[in-house]
Amino acid sequence: MLIDAHCHLDFPDFDADREAVIDRARAVGVTRFVVPGTTRKRWSNVLALGERDDVSVCLGLHPYFMDAHGEGDLDALAQALDDHPEVVAVGECGIDARFDETLEVQWTLFDAQLRLARDRALPVVIHCVRANDQVAKRLRQLELPAGGLIHAFAGSPEQARVFLDLGFTLGLGGAVTFDRARRVHRAVTSLPDDGYVLETDSPDMPLAGHQGERNEPARVAEVCRAVAELRGQSARQVAVASTAAARRLFGLPT
Ligand SMILES: [Zn+2]
Repeated sequence: MLIDAHCHLDFPDFDADREAVIDRARAVGVTRFVVPGTTRKRWSNVLALGERDDVSVCLGLHPYFMDAHGEGDLDALAQALDDHPEVVAVGECGIDARFDETLEVQWTLFDAQLRLARDRALPVVIHCVRANDQVAKRLRQLELPAGGLIHAFAGSPEQARVFLDLGFTLGLGGAVTFDRARRVHRAVTSLPDDGYVLETDSPDMPLAGHQGERNEPARVAEVCRAVAELRGQSARQVAVASTAAARRLFGLPT
């Protein structure tokens, strides 16, 4: 049994064959999908998917889509969180330091969402690119009661330890399947059994051997095998540990 702890199943990339994509994932043992929010405009699609028994949803404002966010979106997010108790986390939110020109506004939006998560005791799903140390510093100041997910973790064992000590869980995805990703391999080996979940970030973050293809949740089984090999464990052990960690993090049904 596997959980894809982070996949954008609401994206238009899946409009033509969403059911088939979900069926393929179920066929390899994926029993639950956690779908994060990205922009206010897409929240209704995310919430609609959340009506399925096997989908859990988050709502947030993603730093990659800064052009899509406007005034009033943060108030709308607070309202949506109040209106939808089925939402399991705030996110996806965070910092993408590849986009220098929006960095200041990114921090304003991220900070506000961290506070929403703190005030509601919800976990937060964090997109963090080239900003691990700054994000960790801010998390240490805020002390979020329900922790959260560092999605698509690609840092060092030392950075992993910092996030774990802050009560966060690390999301392992396609990045770990690349042979040259030595630093994150060392991090994967160093994690405790309850320190990570598996994810695909579908349709993005293709795995090794699938570059240029649309990613899909069935591939979380390949991520599971790659993590198992790195950790010297069986795929079954990794499936059990990561599923338990995802349930604990998001308060998912068993
Ligand atoms: Zn994502």
